[in-house]
Amino acid sequence: MANGKIKLEVVTPLKRLVSAEVDEITGPGSWGEFGILPEHTPYLVQLDVGALSYRKSSGRYFVSVSGGYAEVGPHEVTILAESAELAEEIDVDRAKGARERAIGRLSGKDVDETFNFDRSEASLKRAISRISVANRSGLE
Ligand code: ATP
Repeated sequence: MANGKIKLEVVTPLKRLVSAEVDEITGPGSWGEFGILPEHTPYLVQLDVGALSYRKSSGRYFVSVSGGYAEVGPHEVTILAESAELAEEIDVDRAKGARERAIGRLSGKDVDETFNFDRSEASLKRAISRISVANRSGLE
């Protein structure tokens, strides 16, 4: 993009959440947090669960992402997330409910024959990410 911006697209199998020209992006890579500025070398990053953020002239914005890939080019970044929510569409009570259910299972309180550690842990991470994104939005 000739104006020194990055064209950011955030999509899930269900919908397109973001299509914007941005100055900077940070996100949860499976090997740690990554940061992208314009003219970045092309690469592919596997996404963990966590907060994706991007900055543009009107401010900094947060999206909770749950796995997927980020395809990085010098002037465009496409986030293909398994699921993702904009900060303002997050239902915090629902996420808190999911967090409590996951903690109940992981702590051994609510374990039954369907208990699966990895699923409960993944569910807890998604819930914490959603709560964190909803809380950070508007503060920065
Ligand atoms: P829950 O137990 O509350 O369903 P989950 O982590 O199992 O949470 P997912 O399977 O990751 O939910 O997501 C299912 C769909 O619901 C996705 O489209 C996701 O974006 C949406 N979603 C999940 N939790 C929330 C939330 N707290 N606020 C808004 N949308 C949500």
